[in-house]
Amino acid sequence: MNQLAQPSAQPHYSGSLFIVSAPSGAGKSSLVKALLSEVEGIGLSISNTTRRPRPGEQDGVDYHFISEHQFEAIRDQDGFLEWAHVHGNYYGTSRQWVEGQMATDRDVLLEIDWQGAEQVVRKVSNVVSIFILPPSLEELERRLRGRGTDAEEVILKRMGAAQLEIEQARRFDYVILNDNFDQALLELKSIVYAARCRFNQQMARHGAQLKSIGL
Ligand code: 5GP
Repeated sequence: MNQLAQPSAQPHYSGSLFIVSAPSGAGKSSLVKALLSEVEGIGLSISNTTRRPRPGEQDGVDYHFISEHQFEAIRDQDGFLEWAHVHGNYYGTSRQWVEGQMATDRDVLLEIDWQGAEQVVRKVSNVVSIFILPPSLEELERRLRGRGTDAEEVILKRMGAAQLEIEQARRFDYVILNDNFDQALLELKSIVYAARCRFNQQMARHGAQLKSIGL
């Protein structure tokens, strides 16, 4: 993220922390799922939320579904790397899980909203932030309705929030226009591979080999 404050106190990890944000209905979850099935070495953080599960969603797989009381207890013990109130529910990322993964030099991906992204950028180095945009507002609405899992009231709330969310794209490092799924996935994978080729990341992962050829 280029227009946000630089991180203050951050531990150094050789893995990268990828943040993927988007307005609801931009196709973020499908793109992330495809990315994770095709690219090795990235762990997806499973967020905690006070939202009720949608039909088909599983606790511990899609989210950790917790009560507001549980959420507040974790938050008050500083257990979230970031948290936000989004569309009427609380969402938060487990600090312990992310730090544990990063300590093993794996890449981590957070699928979180822009408010959470802002908090993470302040706290962690090596953050690569990606924003996924729908090709149009009409298409966004069509996709939200096409899910068939949300009540009309929820869809209207999400459409109402979309414009403000879309404006946040300018704060992110990368923007992907999800018009064509395959092209969008190619772009997402390219960002991940490019991040891994940054000098510091290569040195951290392949230090001995690079030293052996004179670096
Ligand atoms: P949904 O209810 O559709 O699963 O998610 C609603 C919004 O919350 C999405 O923008 C999603 O990225 C965001 N979100 C999911 N998990 C987290 C989290 O842990 N932290 C934050 N800040 N946002 C999250």
